[in-house]
Amino acid sequence: MLLMNSYRKMTRLYDNHNHSQFSFDGKKASVESSARAAVSAGLAGLCFTDHCDFYVPPMKASHEDLVPEQFDIAAQQAEIDRVRCLIPEIEIFKGIEIGLEERSRESIRKLLAENEFDEVLASVHYLDDTDPFWGGYYQGKDWKTAYGHYLETIYREMTWLTDFDIIGHFDYVARYAPYPECSIFYRDFPDIFDSILGYLADNGKALEINTKTYQDYSGRTPVLDKDILLRFRELGGEAVSLGSDSHFPERVGDKFRLYSEFIKACGFKYTAHFSRRKLILETI
Ligand SMILES: [Zn+2]
Repeated sequence: MLLMNSYRKMTRLYDNHNHSQFSFDGKKASVESSARAAVSAGLAGLCFTDHCDFYVPPMKASHEDLVPEQFDIAAQQAEIDRVRCLIPEIEIFKGIEIGLEERSRESIRKLLAENEFDEVLASVHYLDDTDPFWGGYYQGKDWKTAYGHYLETIYREMTWLTDFDIIGHFDYVARYAPYPECSIFYRDFPDIFDSILGYLADNGKALEINTKTYQDYSGRTPVLDKDILLRFRELGGEAVSLGSDSHFPERVGDKFRLYSEFIKACGFKYTAHFSRRKLILETI
């Protein structure tokens, strides 16, 4: 208990990736229940990053009520304001998880210009008209092609957008893959990782460590490759963001103690979060 208390005092941790009732797939979470869970977990703050994907591939769209996967930004922000007053002991930030996708570029840019957020988390969920979660993406691809093309898509779209704070779950594509190679390693994709990490480092943007990736997926458990973080540090990267990608309150801050120590062991002094689009670094 003593250890736990001193840890909490010394390390202010923020969960920068959470979904609430405003996400199409967030029906089991609410802003209030997740904020209360964050307090119980000893976090200093959390950000709600509800989904916004303008384009949803037909294979998935046909199974869903809410397409495109957008949310009511004004309603989400009003609810965050309400919960901020209700639970003042924790910092709550207004975010969005924007789905990078080539044909949605203009819509994304317009939405970001017209709305104010604390944090913009940019992720790739859909590519090549397929959804890695629903299937199709891996067909006809070996693991190296599938993972490499996903990373190249992140790089292409993020350097087009430029208006974002954090790159979300770079290893999302490994979660649902059918291959025995269930983790993404720097050594297999050094050039594209150098491009992504170099861009983030040069532009003061953050790399997300998404703790939802490092759990069991049908007997496969992806791991986080230390070499990716070591290389980010080598390229001058300072901003590493922790995100649970929670869709229900029990996962808020999941494994953050373990991964904040992991980040520290790779030479980073801080974890990152954002307020009014401004990078804030907290000493680990
Ligand atoms: Zn996501």
